[in-house]
This record gives sequence, structure tokens and C-alpha cells, in this order.
Amino acid sequence: MNTSRLRKHWQKLSPPEIDTLQAAQFRHYLRQVVLPFSPHYRRLFGRLGLTADSFRTLADLDRLPFISKADLLPVPGEPDRFKDFIISPKPEALSRSFNVILRAALHGQARVARELADEFRPVSLFFTTGRAAEPLPFLNTNHDLANIHSASRRLMEICGARPDYRMLNAFPFAPHLAFWFTYYAGISYGALTVSSGGGKVMGTEGNLRLIRKLKPEVIIGVPTFIYHLLHQAVQDGVRCENLKRLVLGGEKSSDGMRRKLVELSQELGARDVSVLGTYGFTEAKLAWGECPPPLDQPASGYHLYPDLGIIEIIDPQTGRVLPPGQPGEIVFTPLDARGSVVLRYRTGDYIDGGLTYEPCPYCKRTAPRLVGNISRASEIRELNLAKLKGTLVDFNQLEHILDDAPHVGTWQLELRKAHDDPMELDELILHVQKDPAADERQVSRELADRFHSRTEITPNRILFHDDAEMRRLQGVGVQLKEQKIVDHRPRSDDSPAGRHTAAGTRGATVIAHEMHTS
Ligand SMILES: [Zn+2]
Repeated sequence: MNTSRLRKHWQKLSPPEIDTLQAAQFRHYLRQVVLPFSPHYRRLFGRLGLTADSFRTLADLDRLPFISKADLLPVPGEPDRFKDFIISPKPEALSRSFNVILRAALHGQARVARELADEFRPVSLFFTTGRAAEPLPFLNTNHDLANIHSASRRLMEICGARPDYRMLNAFPFAPHLAFWFTYYAGISYGALTVSSGGGKVMGTEGNLRLIRKLKPEVIIGVPTFIYHLLHQAVQDGVRCENLKRLVLGGEKSSDGMRRKLVELSQELGARDVSVLGTYGFTEAKLAWGECPPPLDQPASGYHLYPDLGIIEIIDPQTGRVLPPGQPGEIVFTPLDARGSVVLRYRTGDYIDGGLTYEPCPYCKRTAPRLVGNISRASEIRELNLAKLKGTLVDFNQLEHILDDAPHVGTWQLELRKAHDDPMELDELILHVQKDPAADERQVSRELADRFHSRTEITPNRILFHDDAEMRRLQGVGVQLKEQKIVDHRPRSDDSPAGRHTAAGTRGATVIAHEMHTS
């Protein structure tokens, strides 16, 4: 089986071809890159008695243990565990490699030395995001950046972009994947792109000036910030008739938020806007996107690149790999990464529609897709102990309720202790910026009903704010990412938060939802 032919046709492979391609590439990758040069995996495979040939089909992946962020975090005595996962060939090992000796004989030593440096020497670094754990550095080599270049080009194709589109990259400027993946997307696709750095760098005003000047066809960024930006644009009477795509990343994008963004785009004079989601994370060095659905049809799901990585969906409790279409936790294995490399990486992200190998109903690509809503496990885990009237709270669910609520623009959920007393009960305060035409008491009543009917809890208070105050509360233009959920419970070793949760130990910690793309 010719894997380079299969790679070339990654968009239209059948499920058996995908299995063959991925298993063959995984063996090749283990043999050539991971096992010779990854300290962690060399030891692990030795201990388990595994070799590259132990993986004949994808089902054999089950023989390899999962890894999660906790395995990379510092522990006493081992402050730099992440370094154990960096592909780092020793010069002696390379000089003994048959492949390298052959290449040097054919192409000359100087050229091979240059190629090896491009392949293996780290040249860039992104940090992991997510609040459940400290950020970790993930190293990339030029080989990784070349893969980001080609994957970001694929993402543009999937989103139905055109090279003559102008793009506003409004992701926060940071050493995070989302910003840089988008930067590379513009370059690889040959589309004029302005990277504003989001609200913190240029403010809402600066981004609005760019919209006026650039008249972009594509705006890409974090949904909450894009919402603020378009809302302000409408208030200021800005027109942006060219707008064709709003591409979202960095946090979940609910149907309600997408609907509001379409409405705002229409007020800017844009008639035919598709709101598309992306999903990616630093550890994958990749992001995947949706293709534009026909009007009023559900999202397509995230189109994967089967030649660049393997996605598995597992039961988070048992670790069992689930069949297509089953909801579960997303696990990622790269097939061509250098720099920092983790295999069978548990993302902590849950997808409610699972993985599908059915052709996309809209673009007909047969690449596998992740379908449905993605939510962070930590939304439930971290706040499991935050009892509100004795009820466990799933903040993923609260976000959906609020995003889908009519007359609600932006919102923030604030956790407090009654009277700021650590011994007191927890309080949930909902801050809302509503449609100015809607009646406060009615919106309040409707929100309380929605909460009560779906969660058995209601906020202790619902407070209404104008746009400016809401921007201040969410930290638009101040925080790297807008704060949708904040924990203002006082720090105390006696409080449940202080005792059990990562959020609590850091005091007034932002726990706004984020999906590690940014
Ligand atoms: Zn599609």
C-alpha cells in the first residue's frame, strides 16, 4: 500500500484506507522518530515489550497507555518532566543511523545537516492553555511549522475561503496555537490577513477601525470577543457588507451564540454569513474546522486530517475506545510531529456526537469528522464540589442555557460567598447585558425559569448592565480572553474551593470556558 498516494488523497479515503494509512504511518513514525529519539517512549516501549511492529491495525493502539497533561506537569524532584517528551536525537545516534548515512552519501553532509536541523531543532514554542493546570511549553521544529502551514491551508479550504478574501485575525496575541495557526492560514492560503491581537492589544475601537478600513470577508477569533466587536460595530453604525465567514475558536461556540452572530452580521449589512467553528489544541499542533452548511442546517462537524493524526473517542471512566457515533473524550496521537510529542493524549474534551466516518453531507469529503458539541471536562470536575443549594453544577450546561436564551446578549456567571464569608453558602450571581427593548423583569423571570427547569438551581441574583459595564466585567481589552465565569469566593483553606479545586487555590480565579485552541 502506497502511503504517499493515500496521504495525497486524505479528503476522500474510505474507512479501510484510513485505517491502513494511519497504522502504516504510525509504525513508520514510531520506527523513524519516536522510538529512537523520545526518552519517555523509548523507556515505556522497552518496559512494555512493545515495538513499532506491535501496531498492525488501529485497534492495536489499545496496547499503549494514555497520557494526560498531569503526566507532563512538574512533580517534586522532577521539575521538567515535559522535556522527557521532546524528540531529541543525539548527534552520535544520528551518525549511526543508516538512513542518515545513506542521505549524506547521496546529497552531501552539509545538506543533510541542514535538513536534520530543520526536522529536529526546536525553533518555536507555544504554551498549552486551559485552567485546570499550569501552562506547559510545547516545542515546535521547522518540520512542525511546515505541517502547520499545510494544515492551516487545508482549514481555509474546508471553511470555503477564497484567496481574494481579506481576513481579520482577532485572536489574542499570545504564544498560543490559535493566533499562530491563523497567522499561518493567511500566509499558506495567500489571503491578505491582518492580525490585530484581539481586544487586549488594539481594543475594541482599534479592531473596529480595522473592520472599517479592511472590509474583511473573514473575521476569526474567540466568540465572546467577536460578539462584543460586532455588537459595538452595530451601535456605531459600521457597515461590513463583504463579511462572508465568522470563524470561531478558543472557546465553545453554542448554537445560540452562532445565531446571535448571524443576526449582528445582518445588521452590518452582510447577507450571507456562515459562522464556522474550529477545534484545536497546542498538543496536537493542529486545528480542524467546519465546512459552510446550507442555510439553517446544523454544523458539519470538524473535518480531520487522517494523515497527520489519529483521533480516538474513549469512555472517560473506563478508557475503552468507543465505536463511531458514541459521545466521549477526545484522544489524540500525532503521526508526523517533532519537538514535543505525546501519544494517545487525553484532551479532557468531550464531544457529544463522537467521531464519524460518514461522508460530510455538505462538502462530501470522507475524512473523519468530530460531530456535536465539545465541552471541557474541567467544567464539571473543578466545580463538582461547589454546592449550590446542595446541587452539583455542570457549567457547560449553564453556558448553553444562557447562550440560547432570547434577549440575552452577553453574560457572566459569578460565584461568591454570601457576605464574602468563607464559611457561608455559595452564591451564584448572573450578570446580563440584554436587548434594550426587552423588559428587565420579564427577562429575569424567563432566565430564572430556564435555569430552574433544566438544572434545579436558580441564580441568587440576576443583575442587568449596559454594554460598557459588561465589557468592564468581562475584561474586554484588559484580559487576554473575556471572562464568562468568575470565581470571587474568598480564599480559605476551610472552604471547599480552597481545599479541592485548582480554581479555589488561586483565589479570584478566572474560570471562563476555554477550549485550548488559543
Ligand atoms: Zn464538509
